[in-house]
Amino acid sequence: MEFDVPGLVENSAEILALRAHEKGLELNSRIAPNAPGTLVGDPVRLRQVLTNLVGNAIKFTDRGEVFIDVEYRPGSPSRGTLEFRVSDTGIGIPEDKLESIFENFTQIDSSSRRVHGGAGLGLAIAGRLARLMGGRLWVDSTLGQGSTFYFTAQVRAPETTEGSPTPALSELDGMKVLIADDNPRARTNLAERIQGWGAGTTEVGDGYQALAEMRRGDGRGEPYHLTFLDQEMPGLGGFEIVRQLRSGTETPPGCVMLLTSIDRTTNVARCKQLGISHYLVKPPRLSDLPRVVRTATQPATATPADPLPATSAPEVNGDRHLRILLAEDSEDNRLVV
Ligand code: ADP
Repeated sequence: MEFDVPGLVENSAEILALRAHEKGLELNSRIAPNAPGTLVGDPVRLRQVLTNLVGNAIKFTDRGEVFIDVEYRPGSPSRGTLEFRVSDTGIGIPEDKLESIFENFTQIDSSSRRVHGGAGLGLAIAGRLARLMGGRLWVDSTLGQGSTFYFTAQVRAPETTEGSPTPALSELDGMKVLIADDNPRARTNLAERIQGWGAGTTEVGDGYQALAEMRRGDGRGEPYHLTFLDQEMPGLGGFEIVRQLRSGTETPPGCVMLLTSIDRTTNVARCKQLGISHYLVKPPRLSDLPRVVRTATQPATATPADPLPATSAPEVNGDRHLRILLAEDSEDNRLVV
């Protein structure tokens, strides 16, 4: 069955990002730029394994980050291997348990069931599904530092290949783009895509550096054409940066705010208040990125208080009260709906 690679990864990540953000964790993903946009394989099984591994990573991590990295290794022209890596900064797995966790009904710690729930079946099933897709499932882990689960699957290229998961964006050619995010992988991931469109990027890891870099660009007479600002950075977050620029005489460049999904409505309202028309909810979806970048780099004729439909929250009519019953056995789906 033909499937959209970024769509599969990003939809799974989006559903689980809510749970990650509730625990104060970041969930980010990267898809190697050489991966075709569409492939032929078993998207249902791929999603099942990926969701299982990401769900575990969130479950066994209390601080830090969960990261999904997807590599594509072409074999023959029409075949290749997709490799998914799900890494976390969680409790890790003792060396002598690295094999047995893939067996049925295995949990490392008998108190785990009480604390974390689950039945110890997930990895056994995930391993079987990976093998059914011509791949395998394995793990690297350091106790107390975190784990990386890997799984592979054989895939085929469709008759008509799209080539790249992101379309060309000639508008960005030669532009200067600043990316401010305290998460190095999220930063690099975004930079990789932006550079792929021909723009030059500067990456900074905190808000003070971002502000200094924007001012330095202005001072040199070479202002940034576009800036990505993470809403939450140590010391100075994205909103505060825009507020400081606006309260002076400086004009912020085309700015895209990177929002965390939790408190999304409040964050969108803050964007509106500050006249920020462009935002992406983290982890940014490859399918949203080109459109947001394109509109954010257009000359400022766009109406500032009018965010893009795909990323804006719908208006809520405060006078009407609806009672809605949702019957759905998946907790994640309930949360999303
Ligand atoms: P469960 O339903 O218990 O999560 P799994 O088969 O998915 O069953 O996992 C088996 C056991 O492997 C878990 O109970 C846990 O002890 C360990 N484990 C799985 N993923 C991780 C992870 N990311 N970090 C630490 N331990 C993990």
